[in-house]
Amino acid sequence: MAQGNLDTLRERLDTINGQLLELLSERAEIVQEIGLEKERQGVPKFDPVREKKMLDELVALNKGPFSHETVRHLFKQIFKASLNLQEEGQKKHLLVSRKNKREDTIVTLGDGISIGNGKPVMIAGPCSVESYEQVRQVAAVLKEAGVTVMRGGAFKPRTSPYDFQGLGIEGLKILKEVASEFGLKTISEIVDPAHIEIACDYIDVIQIGARNMQNFELLKAAGDVRVPVLLKRGLAATLDEFLNAAEYIVSRGNTQVMLIERGIRTYEKATRNTLDISAVPILKQESHLPVLVDVTHSTGRKDILAPCAKAALAAGADGVMVEVHPDPATALSDAAQQLNFEEFAQFYKTVTESGLF
Ligand code: PEP
Ligand code: MN
Repeated sequence: MAQGNLDTLRERLDTINGQLLELLSERAEIVQEIGLEKERQGVPKFDPVREKKMLDELVALNKGPFSHETVRHLFKQIFKASLNLQEEGQKKHLLVSRKNKREDTIVTLGDGISIGNGKPVMIAGPCSVESYEQVRQVAAVLKEAGVTVMRGGAFKPRTSPYDFQGLGIEGLKILKEVASEFGLKTISEIVDPAHIEIACDYIDVIQIGARNMQNFELLKAAGDVRVPVLLKRGLAATLDEFLNAAEYIVSRGNTQVMLIERGIRTYEKATRNTLDISAVPILKQESHLPVLVDVTHSTGRKDILAPCAKAALAAGADGVMVEVHPDPATALSDAAQQLNFEEFAQFYKTVTESGLF
């Protein structure tokens, strides 16, 4: 008899549980509708005044056996879950996120040269454009090797204001002239938003340097043109900050953006920076943009460039960047880390014959 009574009571509870769930679900649907309406009106989702009023009204209605405090607590949980539901509905994925676009972005530089199409690319060239003759010598070696994209800095953001600052627009002119002679594509760093438009006349890819990764006016200017952009990871930037920097460019309509890991600051002194190899697969997973690795600036050491380039490719990088100079010892910037032609030939051979390229 006692058992029969317990079963009956439990059955009644089960029924009420079902009814409560139905009511909660109905409530949640209304909450979602309110969320959309709030979004349309541009008002915040959380309304503490309204929440307090609802709780006070419920307590006034409460005849027990739950205490007022318990009623407050229970409904607060319901309100909290409702707010979460509204905020979830509103969560937007970044344009650069794979959640927003599944297919890989392929950056096209013309003449059949693409980056991010599954075939890795090698970008090589001097740290700085120093003279017409210097760039010409490098271009000839690159052309001979089969490299299609040449780098060279015309505007150099140097740590010391007394160091070589680059040839500026003159350097861009040299790049254009040499590139058209050898049929190469060019990449060069731009540091001033006012130079972005002019740069489009001279180079095929605008590089935004590590020190400028969060120079938002520069990012916006690069987003307003329709020339591909190579965005370097900041010296101390998280991957989230990196992706948001790329979002600045893409959100203004320039979708041809590439990310490049160039090493981050750590306590390690054996290398110039620490190559964050894990950034490569993470960025490839999180974003549809091509991901490259600058082995020169990330390591600052010629003796480990080839294994680091292979590691980058094995991790899924769409390409590597490396500095080459006709006579590194006399280079006006980064003299210690640039490869001479012989070293470059060896590096190129090791990497391209690794089976990863
Ligand atoms: C460069 O590539 O020339 C350069 C200055 O690199 P970073 O911005 O990564 O230091
Ligand atoms: Mn350099």
